[in-house]
Amino acid sequence: MLLLGDAAHAIVPFFGQGINCGFEDCSCLLELLDRHGADWARLFREFEQARKINTDAIADMAVENFVEMRDRVADPKFLFRKMVELALEEKFPRLFVPKYAMVTFHRIPYVTAMQRGAVQERILAELCASIEQIEDLDWNKAERMVRSELTPLELAA
Ligand SMILES: Cc1cc2nc3c(=O)[nH]c(=O)nc-3n(C[C@H](O)[C@H](O)[C@H](O)COP(=O)(O)OP(=O)(O)OC[C@H]3O[C@@H](n4cnc5c(N)ncnc54)[C@H](O)[C@@H]3O)c2cc1C
Repeated sequence: MLLLGDAAHAIVPFFGQGINCGFEDCSCLLELLDRHGADWARLFREFEQARKINTDAIADMAVENFVEMRDRVADPKFLFRKMVELALEEKFPRLFVPKYAMVTFHRIPYVTAMQRGAVQERILAELCASIEQIEDLDWNKAERMVRSELTPLELAA
Protein backbone atom coordinates (compact mmCIF):
# COMPACT_ATOMS: atom_id res chain seq x y z
CA MET A 1 0.00 0.00 0.00
CA LEU A 2 1.32 3.48 -0.89
CA LEU A 3 0.11 6.67 0.79
CA LEU A 4 0.13 9.94 -1.19
CA GLY A 5 -0.86 13.52 -0.42
CA ASP A 6 -1.99 14.65 3.01
CA ALA A 7 -2.43 11.05 4.15
CA ALA A 8 1.36 10.73 3.91
CA HIS A 9 2.49 14.24 4.80
CA ALA A 10 -0.13 16.69 6.07
CA ILE A 11 1.65 19.98 6.81
CA VAL A 12 0.79 23.29 8.44
CA PRO A 13 -0.73 25.59 5.78
CA PHE A 14 1.66 28.56 5.98
CA PHE A 15 3.49 27.98 2.70
CA GLY A 16 0.31 27.25 0.70
CA GLN A 17 1.95 24.08 -0.67
CA GLY A 18 -0.32 21.27 0.54
CA ILE A 19 -1.99 20.46 -2.75
CA ASN A 20 1.14 21.12 -4.84
CA CYS A 21 3.01 18.69 -2.63
CA GLY A 22 0.35 16.05 -3.41
CA PHE A 23 0.63 16.81 -7.15
CA GLU A 24 4.41 16.34 -6.94
CA ASP A 25 3.77 12.92 -5.40
CA CYS A 26 1.62 12.08 -8.43
CA SER A 27 4.19 13.20 -11.00
CA CYS A 28 6.94 11.31 -9.14
CA LEU A 29 4.76 8.17 -9.09
CA LEU A 30 4.04 8.48 -12.81
CA GLU A 31 7.74 8.87 -13.64
CA LEU A 32 8.55 5.76 -11.62
CA LEU A 33 5.73 3.81 -13.28
CA ASP A 34 7.14 4.76 -16.69
CA ARG A 35 10.57 3.60 -15.58
CA HIS A 36 9.77 0.40 -13.66
CA GLY A 37 6.25 -0.64 -14.69
CA ALA A 38 4.39 -2.59 -12.01
CA ASP A 39 7.49 -3.59 -10.02
CA TRP A 40 5.70 -2.33 -6.91
CA ALA A 41 8.27 -3.20 -4.26
CA ARG A 42 11.00 -1.30 -6.13
CA LEU A 43 8.67 1.51 -7.11
CA PHE A 44 7.41 2.10 -3.55
CA ARG A 45 10.97 2.04 -2.20
CA GLU A 46 12.23 4.59 -4.75
CA PHE A 47 9.12 6.71 -4.28
CA GLU A 48 9.77 6.96 -0.57
CA GLN A 49 13.45 7.75 -1.13
CA ALA A 50 12.58 10.52 -3.59
CA ARG A 51 9.70 12.07 -1.69
CA LYS A 52 10.49 11.76 2.03
CA ILE A 53 13.40 14.24 2.07
CA ASN A 54 11.32 16.71 0.07
CA THR A 55 8.12 16.41 2.08
CA ASP A 56 10.13 16.68 5.32
CA ALA A 57 11.70 19.85 3.87
CA ILE A 58 8.38 21.52 3.02
CA ALA A 59 6.99 20.51 6.43
CA ASP A 60 9.90 22.36 8.09
CA MET A 61 9.71 25.36 5.74
CA ALA A 62 5.96 25.71 6.33
CA VAL A 63 6.58 25.98 10.09
CA GLU A 64 9.44 28.46 9.49
CA ASN A 65 7.12 30.53 7.30
CA PHE A 66 4.60 30.71 10.13
CA VAL A 67 7.26 32.02 12.49
CA GLU A 68 8.43 34.52 9.86
CA MET A 69 4.92 35.82 9.21
CA ARG A 70 4.12 35.98 12.92
CA ASP A 71 7.27 37.65 14.19
CA ARG A 72 9.21 39.37 11.43
CA VAL A 73 7.15 41.00 8.67
CA ALA A 74 6.87 44.33 10.51
CA ASP A 75 10.56 44.43 11.46
CA PRO A 76 12.43 47.13 9.42
CA LYS A 77 15.61 45.02 9.43
CA PHE A 78 13.71 42.09 7.93
CA LEU A 79 12.12 44.34 5.30
CA PHE A 80 15.53 45.79 4.41
CA ARG A 81 16.91 42.27 4.01
CA LYS A 82 14.01 41.44 1.67
CA MET A 83 14.93 44.49 -0.41
CA VAL A 84 18.55 43.36 -0.66
CA GLU A 85 17.37 39.84 -1.47
CA LEU A 86 15.37 41.14 -4.45
CA ALA A 87 18.31 43.25 -5.64
CA LEU A 88 20.56 40.17 -5.53
CA GLU A 89 17.99 38.14 -7.47
CA GLU A 90 17.84 40.84 -10.13
CA LYS A 91 21.63 40.94 -10.42
CA PHE A 92 22.20 37.14 -10.27
CA PRO A 93 18.94 35.66 -11.61
CA ARG A 94 20.09 32.02 -11.94
CA LEU A 95 22.24 32.00 -8.83
CA PHE A 96 20.34 33.86 -6.14
CA VAL A 97 16.63 33.06 -6.16
CA PRO A 98 14.69 33.82 -2.94
CA LYS A 99 13.48 30.70 -1.13
CA TYR A 100 9.84 31.73 -1.47
CA ALA A 101 10.26 32.04 -5.25
CA MET A 102 12.13 28.72 -5.49
CA VAL A 103 9.25 26.98 -3.72
CA THR A 104 6.36 28.83 -5.32
CA PHE A 105 7.37 29.78 -8.85
CA HIS A 106 9.85 27.10 -9.98
CA ARG A 107 10.04 23.31 -10.13
CA ILE A 108 12.97 23.17 -7.73
CA PRO A 109 12.82 20.28 -5.22
CA TYR A 110 11.82 21.43 -1.73
CA VAL A 111 14.99 20.08 -0.17
CA THR A 112 17.12 22.06 -2.65
CA ALA A 113 15.12 25.21 -1.93
CA MET A 114 15.61 24.69 1.80
CA GLN A 115 19.38 24.09 1.53
CA ARG A 116 19.99 26.98 -0.88
CA GLY A 117 17.70 29.16 1.23
CA ALA A 118 19.92 28.57 4.27
CA VAL A 119 23.08 29.52 2.30
CA GLN A 120 21.36 32.65 0.97
CA GLU A 121 20.23 33.63 4.47
CA ARG A 122 23.84 33.46 5.60
CA ILE A 123 25.01 35.58 2.65
CA LEU A 124 22.26 38.14 3.30
CA ALA A 125 23.05 38.30 7.01
CA GLU A 126 26.70 39.03 6.28
CA LEU A 127 26.01 41.60 3.55
CA CYS A 128 23.39 43.43 5.62
CA ALA A 129 25.21 43.28 8.95
CA SER A 130 26.72 46.76 8.81
CA ILE A 131 24.55 48.69 6.34
CA GLU A 132 21.16 50.38 6.55
CA GLN A 133 20.59 51.44 2.96
CA ILE A 134 20.92 49.52 -0.26
CA GLU A 135 23.28 52.12 -1.78
CA ASP A 136 25.90 50.94 0.73
CA LEU A 137 25.77 47.31 -0.38
CA ASP A 138 29.24 45.96 -1.19
CA TRP A 139 28.51 44.51 -4.63
CA ASN A 140 32.03 43.10 -5.05
CA LYS A 141 31.68 41.12 -1.85
CA ALA A 142 28.14 40.10 -2.84
CA GLU A 143 29.34 38.77 -6.20
CA ARG A 144 32.24 36.92 -4.59
CA MET A 145 29.97 35.24 -2.05
CA VAL A 146 27.16 34.41 -4.47
CA ARG A 147 29.48 32.94 -7.10
CA SER A 148 31.55 30.92 -4.64
CA GLU A 149 28.67 29.58 -2.51
CA LEU A 150 25.88 28.98 -5.03
CA THR A 151 25.80 26.94 -8.25
CA PRO A 152 23.61 28.07 -11.19
CA LEU A 153 20.05 26.76 -11.17
CA GLU A 154 18.33 25.23 -14.18
CA LEU A 155 15.15 27.31 -14.27
CA ALA A 156 12.28 26.30 -16.55
CA ALA A 157 11.09 29.21 -18.73
C1 LIG B 1 -8.30 25.51 5.49
C2 LIG B 1 -7.29 24.91 4.52
C3 LIG B 1 -6.65 25.76 3.64
C4 LIG B 1 -5.72 25.24 2.71
N1 LIG B 1 -5.10 26.07 1.82
C5 LIG B 1 -4.26 25.59 0.91
C6 LIG B 1 -3.65 26.42 -0.07
O1 LIG B 1 -3.86 27.62 -0.10
N2 LIG B 1 -2.80 25.84 -0.96
C7 LIG B 1 -2.55 24.51 -0.96
O2 LIG B 1 -1.78 24.03 -1.81
N3 LIG B 1 -3.10 23.70 -0.03
C8 LIG B 1 -3.97 24.19 0.88
N4 LIG B 1 -4.53 23.36 1.79
C9 LIG B 1 -4.14 21.97 1.83
C10 LIG B 1 -4.83 21.15 0.73
O3 LIG B 1 -6.23 21.38 0.79
C11 LIG B 1 -4.51 19.67 0.98
O4 LIG B 1 -3.10 19.52 1.02
C12 LIG B 1 -5.06 18.81 -0.14
O5 LIG B 1 -6.45 18.95 -0.23
C13 LIG B 1 -4.71 17.36 0.15
O6 LIG B 1 -5.25 16.57 -0.87
P1 LIG B 1 -5.39 15.02 -0.65
O7 LIG B 1 -6.06 14.53 -1.90
O8 LIG B 1 -4.07 14.45 -0.26
O9 LIG B 1 -6.32 14.84 0.63
P2 LIG B 1 -7.84 15.30 0.83
O10 LIG B 1 -8.16 16.51 0.02
O11 LIG B 1 -8.04 15.36 2.32
O12 LIG B 1 -8.65 14.10 0.23
C14 LIG B 1 -8.82 12.88 0.92
C15 LIG B 1 -10.19 12.34 0.51
O13 LIG B 1 -10.32 11.03 1.07
C16 LIG B 1 -11.64 10.91 1.57
N5 LIG B 1 -11.64 9.84 2.57
C17 LIG B 1 -11.15 9.86 3.83
N6 LIG B 1 -11.32 8.68 4.43
C18 LIG B 1 -11.90 7.88 3.51
C19 LIG B 1 -12.32 6.51 3.53
N7 LIG B 1 -12.15 5.73 4.60
N8 LIG B 1 -12.88 6.01 2.40
C20 LIG B 1 -13.02 6.78 1.30
N9 LIG B 1 -12.64 8.06 1.22
C21 LIG B 1 -12.09 8.61 2.31
C22 LIG B 1 -11.96 12.28 2.13
O14 LIG B 1 -13.36 12.47 2.24
C23 LIG B 1 -11.36 13.17 1.05
O15 LIG B 1 -12.25 13.44 0.00
C24 LIG B 1 -5.45 23.85 2.72
C25 LIG B 1 -6.11 23.01 3.64
C26 LIG B 1 -7.02 23.54 4.52
C27 LIG B 1 -7.74 22.60 5.46
